[in-house]
Amino acid sequence: MSKFIFVMGGVISSLGKGIAVSSIGLLLKSMGYKISVIKLDPYINVDPGTMSPFQHGEVFVTEDGAETDLDLGHYERFVDKDMGKHSNTTSGQIYESVINKERKGIYLGKTVQVIPHITNEIIDNIRFLEKDCDIVIVEIGGTIGDIESLPFVEAVRQLRLEIGIENSMFVLLTYVPFVKAASEIKTKPTQHSVYKLREIGVQPDVLLCRSEKKFDDEIKSKIALFTNVVKKHVVNAYDVNNIYKVPQVFRNAGLHEIICKHFHLECKPMEMTVWDDFVERMNTAKEEITIAVCGKYVTHQDAYRSIEQSLIHAGAFHRVKLNIRWVDTEKSYKQKNLEKRLEGADAILVPGGFGMRGLEGKVQVVRYARKQKLPFFGICLGLQAAVIEFARHECNLKNANSTEFDEETKYPIIYLMEEHSYMEQYGGNMRLGAYPCELQEKSLAEQLYDEPLVFERHRHRWEFNNKFREKLEQKGMVVSGTSMNGLLAEIVEIPEHPFFIGVQFHPEFKSRPNRPHPLFTGFIEAAIKYSKEKR
Ligand code: GLN
Repeated sequence: MSKFIFVMGGVISSLGKGIAVSSIGLLLKSMGYKISVIKLDPYINVDPGTMSPFQHGEVFVTEDGAETDLDLGHYERFVDKDMGKHSNTTSGQIYESVINKERKGIYLGKTVQVIPHITNEIIDNIRFLEKDCDIVIVEIGGTIGDIESLPFVEAVRQLRLEIGIENSMFVLLTYVPFVKAASEIKTKPTQHSVYKLREIGVQPDVLLCRSEKKFDDEIKSKIALFTNVVKKHVVNAYDVNNIYKVPQVFRNAGLHEIICKHFHLECKPMEMTVWDDFVERMNTAKEEITIAVCGKYVTHQDAYRSIEQSLIHAGAFHRVKLNIRWVDTEKSYKQKNLEKRLEGADAILVPGGFGMRGLEGKVQVVRYARKQKLPFFGICLGLQAAVIEFARHECNLKNANSTEFDEETKYPIIYLMEEHSYMEQYGGNMRLGAYPCELQEKSLAEQLYDEPLVFERHRHRWEFNNKFREKLEQKGMVVSGTSMNGLLAEIVEIPEHPFFIGVQFHPEFKSRPNRPHPLFTGFIEAAIKYSKEKR
């Protein structure tokens, strides 16, 4: 049987439960244990795919094509393991599955209820991950006290009864604020969260206490006394300036030892040199470059979480400090101040997106990058914007567009392939997950990847229209990566330009601190070169 760690959040949201879970995962993996992670999301949506990035942040796509919570991105980056559709379950999925079973008569005439039917379904989902793994880490979304996450907490309470204390551990992430007016650190919110949790039958074994500054032993004693958690298990998760330092904070606090002791597991020596080296590279970087990320959701950076992290990985690889400038293509377009916003940038990245808003601004950004010979990297809608711009301004295809934005366009350079019938059902029917992509010999893409065939994750409906390929190629934009049958264009580039590449997939989902993505390292290298030449 596996061991289970259940991580919950108290006091307030946004304390970084995903990072805490990922950091625990990294520590345990570094000792050689096999780890699985699952996020339980309390909302009714079946998956986050239909939610606006403004509300929910990025939708992280797994290798097997699941649209999941962005925390799975952190799990993959920290634990360095591909997650899959079984690593994210929502209330919507649980209810959908229970209702389907009820319709099929599987419950044999019984009244279907939250306890035991919903809770059993949750337990089955968690235990599914037990196969071939030593420790399963379960993140319960929401904050203790929310009614939405109650069935999840109830399920894990029951699960502990089934498997025993020595195989399960409850971890609560809380907040210990410093109240300026009183000049005092306050433990009361943490106490109350623990009381709230106890009301539903769960006594935490470990507290991870977030605080702005380190707190002293006395505070720890007080928290321990009032929450009934052994003092040694009260871990101060004080703020650090970089999420990748969190595992080091936990390691210094001996969290791995606490976990191993609780589970009667051997506390094996830890191998984290690659991680420490990565953090050290970020710390010691001196030279600074500016990357303009130009999109529609820039006011909500959660929407571009993986892109931001991929840039950070590549920046650390080249040991440069990154200044990421978020440029709103919707506003900039309206205010016609785009060039001003792009001034001083050493490279431009146009990320993916949906819908018309911001598209014309993106097209202008591409034009600027192309004309100024600024390194350009377009991702998904970024590729589509690049193709639209090139068609309009170089191939004389006036008003060329994607049919996503102009159904009547005379030049549908980006179009919907017939087999897509997405209008009938909105969620879960894009081109999703990993697909192979063959790279053209000697292309920029092939040089960067240094491989002829790669697998990259997709999340889109529209495709490049091959009818226009010849026209584009005549003018200098080449398709350098295609699907195996050659029918779908996956990568475009402009060989004349120092660095201009657009990809239909999302490479940002595959970048890891220890393995930065080659397209991102190439992009940052080009930005460094541009910045040097400018000086
Ligand atoms: N809206 C575009 C499509 O569906 C691009 C999607 C994206 O950027 N992820 O094809």
